[in-house]
Amino acid sequence: ATPTSIMVGTGRAADMGVLFRRGDALQTLGEVRMLAFDKTGTLTLGRPVLTDFVPAPGLDEESLLRMVAAAESRSEHPIARAIMAAAEARGLDLPVAEKVEALSGLGLQAQVEGHALLIGSARLMRENGVSSEGLSARYESLQADGKTPVLVACDGKIAALFGAADPVKPGARAALAALKDEGVEVAMITGDAKGTALAVARQLGIDHVEAEVLPGGKRDAVQRLRAAHGSVGFVGDGINDAPALAEADVGLAIGTGTDVAIESADVVLVSGDLAGAVNALAISRATLRNIR
Ligand code: ADP
Ligand code: MG
Repeated sequence: ATPTSIMVGTGRAADMGVLFRRGDALQTLGEVRMLAFDKTGTLTLGRPVLTDFVPAPGLDEESLLRMVAAAESRSEHPIARAIMAAAEARGLDLPVAEKVEALSGLGLQAQVEGHALLIGSARLMRENGVSSEGLSARYESLQADGKTPVLVACDGKIAALFGAADPVKPGARAALAALKDEGVEVAMITGDAKGTALAVARQLGIDHVEAEVLPGGKRDAVQRLRAAHGSVGFVGDGINDAPALAEADVGLAIGTGTDVAIESADVVLVSGDLAGAVNALAISRATLRNIR
C-alpha cells in the first residue's frame, strides 16, 4: 500500500469537489456493495414547496394556515419553511405559539390560541389516536405524486392535510444509474411516508426502500442492509443522518447539509451534486488498483 497513491487519489478527488476526510475511506469506498441514500436534501433539493392544502370539512383554510404557521415558525425543518412561505405569500398575521415541542422524525406539537395542535406524519396521528380516515383518499394521491403529506390535528381531531413537493436533484437519476452500472446497489432510507418514498424511488430507479424511519432507525437500517448486502455506504445531509453516517462502512455527507452530518462523515460531496459519489467511487477504485 503506497501512501503516495492515496495522496494522489485524495488530490484528484478534491479537484472534483470530493473531500476525503479520512485516507482509509478511499479504500473502503471502492469496496462497498451498496450505497444507501437519505431522501430529503440528499436525493431531492431539500426545499419543499407547499402545493396542496385540504381542510377537513367545515373548517376554514386561512385560519388553519395561520395557526399551523405560528407553530412551524419555531421549527427549522424544511417543511416548516414551506408552510411559513405559504403563510407569508398570503400576508397572514401569525398568532403566538406556546409550548412548542419538536417530535423528532414525526413532527411537532404546540398550543395556539387555546387550541392543541399536532402537526406531522400519519404515524404521529396514529400514535396519538387521531383518525384521519376522511382525508385518506387525498393522502394516498399526494403520496402517489411523490409529495410529502403533512397532517394537522386540532384538539385531538383531524383538521387538515398539506402536501409539500420537493423535486429530485437534476442528475440524481443519472448518478444512480452510473453507480448501478459499476455494480453498486442503491437504496433509500427516509423518514418520509411510505407511498411518497416509493414514488420518488420509482422516479430515480431505486429498488430498495426503507420509509417512515425514525432518526435512530436509520442506523439500524444501515446495519440490516449490511447484513443482507455486504459493505454499505450511506449518503446524507441532516442531523438525523449522523448516526447512519457514522455506522456505515463509509459515510458521505452532502456539503450543503448540516455541520453535524459533515462531522460524522468520511467523505464530503462539496456541492451536493450526486455525480460526486460516482467520481469518488471511480477514484477510489483506481487507487485500489494501484495499491494492489
Ligand atoms: P427525512 O428523512 O425526510 O429527513 P424527518 O425525520 O426530518 O425526515 O421527518 C420525517 C417526517 O416527520 C416528515 O416527512 C414529516 O411528515 C414529519 N415532520 C418532521 N418535522 C416536521 C415539521 N416541523 N412539520 C411537519 N411535519 C414534520
Ligand atoms: Mg435529509
